Amino acid sequence: MEDALKQNLRYLGLTTIERRFDEEAARAAEGQVPSFDFFSDMIAMEVGARKERAVARKIKKACFPMPKTLSSFDWTAPERINRELVQYLFRMDFVARKENVGFIGQPGTGKTHLLTALGIQACKRGLDVLFAQAIDIINDLSEVAGQPEYNERLKRYKAPDLLCIDEIGYLPIDAQGANLFFQVVSARYETGSIALTSNLAYQDWKQVFAGIECISAAILDRVMHHNHTVVIEGTSYRMKDAARLARETP
Ligand code: ADP
Ligand code: MG
Repeated sequence: MEDALKQNLRYLGLTTIERRFDEEAARAAEGQVPSFDFFSDMIAMEVGARKERAVARKIKKACFPMPKTLSSFDWTAPERINRELVQYLFRMDFVARKENVGFIGQPGTGKTHLLTALGIQACKRGLDVLFAQAIDIINDLSEVAGQPEYNERLKRYKAPDLLCIDEIGYLPIDAQGANLFFQVVSARYETGSIALTSNLAYQDWKQVFAGIECISAAILDRVMHHNHTVVIEGTSYRMKDAARLARETP
């Protein structure tokens, strides 16, 4: 590559073209590719690489616990799951409509798997996502409760297009925690989607939120409005996996 071209590509930040130019130019010359097509292909390569980097940044920022995809979800594992609904959700229309999603099921039935995969899919569609466990959100907010930074901290949970909240129900939440959780749900109500997981049916949530009926009702009221619920029935995949490994190990 000519030095001037190299410098110009670098100046414009066209790093993918810079890296691939010599190889692609040789290929184009060999195949007698018209110059317009060559130019267009090189630009497409740069755009493709930038989009990939943008998605990777969004995924990193979202703090997923592990990489999961819908295609690695084994539909035969659950005894019952509404596959059409899950596939509909992965088309992401619910985010544009500011609707909520709940994955409800026993431990090990794939709730976190689906929540993570859904969040990653949202990143791939260019959406801003944040993934967190319910208890971590509450602890994070309680650090600054009553202080001037509180509103700024709350924005962390209000700003993303999709907030993924994992594990509502395993740990009891005290009155202050319930109040802070309500603030998050309330801040997002009809302005941004929440997708969550719980091992408890909605009607049992009052056990979680310090047994306070009114605050659990207020949380539920907002979560349930414009809500899609995926109930996963079945036994733990972790157990099945452990049993399979035990069978396969001599
Ligand atoms: P939960 O959140 O419901 O307790 P997880 O989503 O954490 O369960 O699932 C436990 C493990 O089993 C994870 O590694 C997950 O990827 C895997 N898993 C669960 N269900 C399935 C499934 N139907 N197909 C593929 N892997 C699954
Ligand atoms: Mg889980």
